[in-house]
Amino acid sequence: NHSEFLSGGIPMTNEVMLSKLGFISIFPEMISAVTDWGVTGRAVRDGRCSIEVIDPREFATDKHGTVDDRPYGGGPGMVMTAPIMTAAVESAKNRLGDQAPVIAMSPQGQVVDEQLLTTLLQQEALIFVAGRYEGFDERFVSRSVDIELSVGDIVVSGGEIPAMLVMDSLIRRIPGVLGDELSAEQDSFVDGLLDCPHYTRPEIFEGEAVPSVLLSGDHARIADWRAAQSLKRTLERRPDLIAKCDLSEEQRSLLARWEML
Ligand code: SAH
Repeated sequence: NHSEFLSGGIPMTNEVMLSKLGFISIFPEMISAVTDWGVTGRAVRDGRCSIEVIDPREFATDKHGTVDDRPYGGGPGMVMTAPIMTAAVESAKNRLGDQAPVIAMSPQGQVVDEQLLTTLLQQEALIFVAGRYEGFDERFVSRSVDIELSVGDIVVSGGEIPAMLVMDSLIRRIPGVLGDELSAEQDSFVDGLLDCPHYTRPEIFEGEAVPSVLLSGDHARIADWRAAQSLKRTLERRPDLIAKCDLSEEQRSLLARWEML
């Protein structure tokens, strides 16, 4: 299911289609961290994207709203049941469309990066499923989930924060969401490199001055310096990224020119 989604049927353009997100969670109020604050809050208020929130407890069959059960084979923790999670996904698909890929948050998933986000942005709708307890019954995952996503090699207590982390990073890349269109392109990772350092007033802070090139008003030289800084940082901090995007002659001479190599 995963590889099918990631390799087949994905348009080769980088056009952003995403405008609808689903959030399946037993703590639906947590979504306010995305919908009520900052850049993502404004995007939702301006209608650049909408978020459908679904609580699996609505599909529970007992009066306590139970969504989990003890694991077969014993052991600690509880497991979110396949029938209830399947019903929650069906409900999300009714609202967002049958085509919407279902993304389950899991420390066992593919680790998300900007390149994967670019692929996800080409979907009109995405459904995020947050786990709790020990996670989901595996039969729900194999039958209803298109892709499992991890936010890194750490374990947190629920999928809500990981899902919202990914949702935020997707929403800020929807055209028009960031005030300055350029700032998303300049961010770390988007071009495979880390961002350059930034400075604002005062010009001298505790005896340390802003790099003089930034005060020169020479826009070409500033762009050149920033590109070199970006490369330098990436070389120093994330050589793994440099290895992936191997340096061009132009980039090498840029580093040499600013005496960074
Ligand atoms: N027993 C599971 C972890 C359960 S943690 C395991 O070891 O695989 C409970 C929930 O938190 C998971 O279902 C998942 O939705 C979420 N979660 C925890 N760590 C995560 C991570 N690194 N990335 C994405 N989701 C995570």
